[in-house]
Amino acid sequence: MIAEIIAVGSEMLTPHRQDTNSLYLTAALNDLGVEVAFKTIVGDNLGHLTSAAKIAIERADIIVFSGGLGPTEDDLTREAAAAALGIGLRRDPAVLTALYKRYAARQIVMPLNNAKQADILDGAMLLENKNGSAPGQFLDTTVTGADGQTHRKIIILLPGPPSELKPLFDETCEHCLAGHLPPRHLARRTLRMALIPESQVDARTAPIYKRYADVETTILAGHAEIQLHFLSAKATLAEARTRVDEVTEEIEREMDDAIFSGQGESLEEVVLLMLGMRHLTLATAESCTGGLLAERLTAVPNSSSAFIGGAVVYTPELKTIMTGVPKETIDEKGAVSEEVARGLAEGIRARTGASIGVSITGLAGPGGGTSGPDAQKPIGRVYIGIADGRQTQVKEINLTGNRERIRYWASQHALELIRRNLL
Ligand code: ATP
Ligand code: MG
Repeated sequence: MIAEIIAVGSEMLTPHRQDTNSLYLTAALNDLGVEVAFKTIVGDNLGHLTSAAKIAIERADIIVFSGGLGPTEDDLTREAAAAALGIGLRRDPAVLTALYKRYAARQIVMPLNNAKQADILDGAMLLENKNGSAPGQFLDTTVTGADGQTHRKIIILLPGPPSELKPLFDETCEHCLAGHLPPRHLARRTLRMALIPESQVDARTAPIYKRYADVETTILAGHAEIQLHFLSAKATLAEARTRVDEVTEEIEREMDDAIFSGQGESLEEVVLLMLGMRHLTLATAESCTGGLLAERLTAVPNSSSAFIGGAVVYTPELKTIMTGVPKETIDEKGAVSEEVARGLAEGIRARTGASIGVSITGLAGPGGGTSGPDAQKPIGRVYIGIADGRQTQVKEINLTGNRERIRYWASQHALELIRRNLL
């Protein structure tokens, strides 16, 4: 069964407000094994709303409306849903009484137009709204499609304010919907890889995941990593898990140690975990990344058991003071050089007593200010050093993009170099 979410409200067609309810509803529907195939945002206009509702009823099995259940002129979801379904609305006496009581409790006479919040789609069930006046509605019905056949449709109306919609969905709607759906259990896995082009990942993995038509596979690229998401929905959890495990195992064999995480952990978490398992400590000396590597590591809770600290050595003088790299080396080779990266990694390791020292020095751009040997080097040139006491390795990388991107990718390369050294 596929769903469509219709977010109702003219404010979401302006640059100032976003439809966040549909994100919440998508996650909740996915958890019930329902795929959201369409999302529509419609303004508070009866004609537009009715036409959107008709399209949704034609193409989706479950249609969830968010918003437009209030008492004002522009709250038109009930009317539009009824018109699109070709059914009537009835005024529910119990809801009407509850509305009157709500107002009486505040010693206000209820304005007449408020009564329309008691209008219920013919045949619908009410979903109690503990946080507002308009109840939600749930209708399990059949319609005759353009093909002349009858089709089952589930129509759900929910209030717009997130503080009403979320608890209403969790407390009543979810249970109600689950009871109207075949049993579905979901299993998910995420594989993560750093610094590999998306096209390469796809070329190598597509022949595998295409054989698993019943597992939904999504490739997400961004932030110097590729994620492969797998989702399987089956009648039992064991079945769903088996299918996801089968496809991920095959892909793990193909991509091998390019995969840094098979359970969704971040690269920094994996590096810290590997250091911890080997009882090793890490210290960093960063130039162009200005502490970004240290920031990413310390963002992980309990990182202090493996990451002991580091230095931001931005100027040539600080590089010498903090890590002991000879001034002559910097003058002769430039701060962005293999020799300086080596000296920084070895120096920070020696001065902090860490098992492993890591350094980053590079040109993040956009340019200017660099004189001496570094003036010849291109923007994006970065050296990463790693020293473990037995040997020191330096990697030259050449990155593209703006300053922010170069800095982030440099930190990613450093983490990946540490991980590969620990394998
Ligand atoms: P009310 O009784 O408050 O009028 P309603 O069910 O008619 O409730 P709307 O009028 O559509 O809901 O929206 C009320 C408020 O809820 C909006 O001003 C907005 O702040 C918020 N809201 C509505 N829809 C969404 C959405 N899809 N995502 C996030 N916020 C929303
Ligand atoms: Mg409203």
